[in-house]
Amino acid sequence: MIETLRKIVQTVNEADTLNDALNFIVHEVRAAMQTDVCTIYLRDRDSQRLVFRATEGLNKDKVGQFSLASHEGLVGWVAARGELLNLDDAMNHASFQLVPGLGEETFNSFMGAPIIHQRDPLGVLVVQQSASRRFSDDEEAFLITVSAQLAAVIAHAEVTGAVSSGDAISEQTARITGVPGSPGIGIGTGVFVSPTADLMAVASRPAGNRKRELRAFRGALARVRDDIEVVAENLKDELSPEDHALFSVYLTILDDSTLGGEVASLIKTGEWAQGALSQVMIQHIRHFERMEHSYLRERAVDVRDLGTRVLTYLQDEERAVRDWPENTILVAEEVTASALGEVPRERLVGIVSLRGSSNSHAAILARGMGVPAVLGAADLPYNRLENKTVVVDGYNGRVHINPHEQALARFRMLVNEDRALSEELAVLRDDYCQTRDGRRMPLWVNTGVNADVQRAQENGAEGVGLYRTEITFLLRDRFPSEEEQRQLYREQLEAFAPAPVTMRTLDIGGDKSLPYFPINEDNPFLGWRGIRVTLDHPEIFLAQVRAMLKANEGLGNLRILLPMISGVEELEESLVLMERCHEEVLAEGYSESFPPVGVMIEVPSAVYLATALAERVDFLSVGSNDLTQYLLAVDRNNARVADLYQALHPAVLSALQAIVSAAHGAGKTVSICGELAGDPRAVPLLIAMGFDQLSMSATNVPRVKKVVQTITERDALGVLAKIQGLHSAEQVMAVLDELIHRYELDRFIRLDKGSRQ
Ligand code: PEP
Ligand code: MG
Repeated sequence: MIETLRKIVQTVNEADTLNDALNFIVHEVRAAMQTDVCTIYLRDRDSQRLVFRATEGLNKDKVGQFSLASHEGLVGWVAARGELLNLDDAMNHASFQLVPGLGEETFNSFMGAPIIHQRDPLGVLVVQQSASRRFSDDEEAFLITVSAQLAAVIAHAEVTGAVSSGDAISEQTARITGVPGSPGIGIGTGVFVSPTADLMAVASRPAGNRKRELRAFRGALARVRDDIEVVAENLKDELSPEDHALFSVYLTILDDSTLGGEVASLIKTGEWAQGALSQVMIQHIRHFERMEHSYLRERAVDVRDLGTRVLTYLQDEERAVRDWPENTILVAEEVTASALGEVPRERLVGIVSLRGSSNSHAAILARGMGVPAVLGAADLPYNRLENKTVVVDGYNGRVHINPHEQALARFRMLVNEDRALSEELAVLRDDYCQTRDGRRMPLWVNTGVNADVQRAQENGAEGVGLYRTEITFLLRDRFPSEEEQRQLYREQLEAFAPAPVTMRTLDIGGDKSLPYFPINEDNPFLGWRGIRVTLDHPEIFLAQVRAMLKANEGLGNLRILLPMISGVEELEESLVLMERCHEEVLAEGYSESFPPVGVMIEVPSAVYLATALAERVDFLSVGSNDLTQYLLAVDRNNARVADLYQALHPAVLSALQAIVSAAHGAGKTVSICGELAGDPRAVPLLIAMGFDQLSMSATNVPRVKKVVQTITERDALGVLAKIQGLHSAEQVMAVLDELIHRYELDRFIRLDKGSRQ
């Protein structure tokens, strides 16, 4: 069964159209279950009817011609209830309905399983048999398993089919749902950026200029050959002649008469070099993988390795000459800081990532840059988006491909509205941020990329509550030296002086892995992360802290923040190291005093230890992104559980209140620098709880300021009182929405999923 499933999933994933996929499924399932009939009905999104889409065993002429209302017949019964139905005497079931012309007359046994993708009923998978028999438990289990597996495949193929129907580039529209990553609407041209050196993820694309592609391929091939010859020469004396002979085999594989030649021929037919290379290599890798003999099967690894090397050179060259469209929508399987850095900022209007969720670091970066983003768009046919019109709706987490002119006009209107609102809010830039009855609330920003500094200043930020130092580390190909760090930190401190700048020590691990310091773990968010890494590598920590202290010379606006602290010992160890750094820099002639130090409260244990931690430092800062993920046990990166990731969950809010009380009880200030601080609707709650500063991405500052200045502290305290005892984030949101409506602030905050945490 596993083998049948694997074959179905793999073949269907590679199918060009949805119809091909469905036909293959009915054929395979009928054969695997040895039934007379296998049929798929799919729900039509507009009419909601169940359309007879593919069959093996019934009248194929009716495919696409016939449909059932959503509750009609046995198929409708299965779809409406979302339950399996197994009958040995189908005709006697109350919902049975004979449709003339389908050819069902002689089938007594019926089994139907609903096809459901993320709670969305997509259709029904049916098998039928003329003999009257009840399908066994095992057969039931098989059909349920097939339909569960197929749901994702069909959802994906549905979109792919819509996008690619027939011609290579169709004008069909499609809409894919993901998770809101960064608010706003971006309209532009899709550009797919394949992950570096991944043969499996290269899009098929027509060659712009065949000769140039051929030249590029030959160039890359020659470079790989040179590399192999160098390695072969270096290892000449260390390998046995038999092992050494492998290098000649590699060179032969790349030869014009073998794979190299096949790739070249494909390029000549009009495929671009990377696409041709990938297609030929995948075909041969699969061929080797299927071989009986284990030695030959293992050669698949060599072929993959050679292909990857050639691809790397091709991609290097492409990057150097890449021409980004004026309105680029960057599409990637996983958007990384370095991929973002490649697109000139003025050309980047939207981001779509197949992986990740609303609090992944890619989303946080996009928000910082003010670029609309959708993450977790897992069903996106990413390699077919090239050069198509793509709209990124970062409010609702949707991606529209080739939208109709009418829809496009509506999106353009939204873009204009957003622009007008920004202009309206811009006048608040220099206002003193306080509520109408005088409660002060300083708004700080989170920074990390260069663009943040400018945006922060344009939006009137009063300080930096979180400078994510790791982003600079992510953009390099090695650890920056102490002096390089000093210069970077100096720029950041100078840009805001005399306003405070809170620099967090390196927080790698989790979803932030440095290319030159890979951390591969099964559970990265529960693994070697943040302070755990830097305490194990004091040389990294010491260099960073020294660089910060030196950068602070003569400015005095530095604050240092420690990430992922889960206990007092970690803090004390860090403080000892920091004191040591301070003594060292003083000895080198620097004179600035020891800066304020703070702890991030983002691990549940730190909530319970907040008093002990606060007593040992100058301030606390709540990392609500991680705190939410750890308190609710919901991976912040996983789109599948995005609905469960609720920063306004009563448990999270109760932790926030406890942290504020602990900090104030110890006479220390407390800020919040997770994304919740930038959610305009959450702001009244945070004010009422007593936070001393809110730190957010620069994009959110104007909207949050508008809310602070419109409400009173009394309103905020009223809201806090009302949410006590509530049991769900939904209920909390309803209370918060009510205040926003009362002050007619809705238009500054789109009240859709997009602005929710
Ligand atoms: C947080 O966890 O809330 C936080 C601010 O840090 P990061 O998002 O970088 O993990
Ligand atoms: Mg964090």
